Amino acid sequence: MKYDLIVVGGGPGGLMAAKTAAEDGLKVVLIERKRNITEINRACLSAFYIHKVSTSIEVAEGTTNSDGYIDPVSVELLPDKCRFHFPVPGFSLDYEGSYTPYYHWIEVSPSLHLIHRHKPNDKFWAIFYQKEVLLAGLLASAQKAGAEILSETMGLGAENTPDGVKVRVRGKSGDQTLEARTAIAADGLQSIIAESLGLNKDRKVMSPPYKILDYEMEGVETDLTRCSLLWITIPSINPTENIGIGPKAEGRVSIFVMTAGTLSPSTVMEKFMKYPTFAPWFRNARVVKKTAAGVTPGLRTPIREPVAGNVVIIGDAGAPVETWIQGAVASGYMAVKAIEKELGGQKGYPEYIDWWQKAFAFNAPDYFKMVGGHYPLPSLCSDEELDYLYSLFEGRVGNSVGLVANNLELIKDKRPELYQKLTKGMRRYT
Ligand SMILES: Cc1cc2nc3c(=O)[nH]c(=O)nc-3n(C[C@H](O)[C@H](O)[C@H](O)COP(=O)(O)OP(=O)(O)OC[C@H]3O[C@@H](n4cnc5c(N)ncnc54)[C@H](O)[C@@H]3O)c2cc1C
Repeated sequence: MKYDLIVVGGGPGGLMAAKTAAEDGLKVVLIERKRNITEINRACLSAFYIHKVSTSIEVAEGTTNSDGYIDPVSVELLPDKCRFHFPVPGFSLDYEGSYTPYYHWIEVSPSLHLIHRHKPNDKFWAIFYQKEVLLAGLLASAQKAGAEILSETMGLGAENTPDGVKVRVRGKSGDQTLEARTAIAADGLQSIIAESLGLNKDRKVMSPPYKILDYEMEGVETDLTRCSLLWITIPSINPTENIGIGPKAEGRVSIFVMTAGTLSPSTVMEKFMKYPTFAPWFRNARVVKKTAAGVTPGLRTPIREPVAGNVVIIGDAGAPVETWIQGAVASGYMAVKAIEKELGGQKGYPEYIDWWQKAFAFNAPDYFKMVGGHYPLPSLCSDEELDYLYSLFEGRVGNSVGLVANNLELIKDKRPELYQKLTKGMRRYT
């Protein structure tokens, strides 16, 4: 066989897999449909979420973001770079781009009542980093270690053979079939490789489809966006989801608008920029770049056993919606270690499956209930009602849905109609 491993997809997961395999001496080829592999053309806020941390870093207490990778990770801020630590798989990655710590995660109501998801203090809970710089570092390491990289090459499907795997690809010089002893599907949310192996057959769709548009903007005038992730909820302009804002490099911000159903993110964005509370933020603002998140078909149950014959699934290719960058990288590393064991005659795949099932929040039994409960408030309240609820919990630490669900009695006498609506509407999620 010409190759030990074919990696399909050059996102964070695939690049980490190619780097790890090549550094360990495997003959590896990575195929990626994009011409410029490190260019980001799918919306991503690029936050590195810290859950449990090495002794050198203090992390904010409070609600952690719980929809992705849950193994402990930490970030070490060095004078000239960051080092991401992954103690459970057991590797670290250096990153030399710019970064911004997130000290706050704030939920914002239409009239600017604030609920803090973390205790406001000087500890950070995530950092924003430049995904393209991380990808460039992984690509350079993979190439240096001898991985062959085929850009502008599309994976069309994979097929197991008695002694390996065949992957059909379409590249600059036409169609061909690559053969290897093993393969990794790292081709993201809409994985063609997972589909071709029949791994999506038993997956259930758990939410309506949604659209995401990310606006990178400069000149947004508000102090609130400094070192904060903002979750802005305005039921009258987006009853389906919230609007997220986070910092980007060079003082810019990323505003990502998510909508479900027929509502379009650009309509929501237009109305948001004219909404009286927020219009002053945009007096001198300019859109630098717009990035969509592609077709996002709705949350699907994950692939529970992400190995089919000689093919291992990593990252978003097996997830309901996202493993996060850190989960994609970790699964790329773990998949290669499993493959190396198998190639050496030992059992590696059961360990990988076991790790996958424990390392991601989306494999927990009540995950979909939790996600379903994230955004019921805008669909149940008016702008004024949401302002009222947020004002009740201003200064408290928690998430709006949890605070409201656990304190419904507080509003029973003062706002009986709202109480009725919420009691009925939130029962689905609690
Ligand atoms: C709006 C939004 C915000 C997000 N914010 C964050 C965040 O703050 N922090 C975080 O950690 N994560 C975030 N994520 C999630 C993160 O972007 C993904 O989880 C992560 O990039 C997954 O990596 P991956 O390598 O599995 O897949 P991807 O990054 O999707 O990479 C897949 C690669 O495969 C290529 N490809 C696809 N099909 C083929 C094919 N058939 N043949 C060849 N190549 C192919 C694609 O071009 C792409 O390069 C966010 C996602 C969204 C949508």
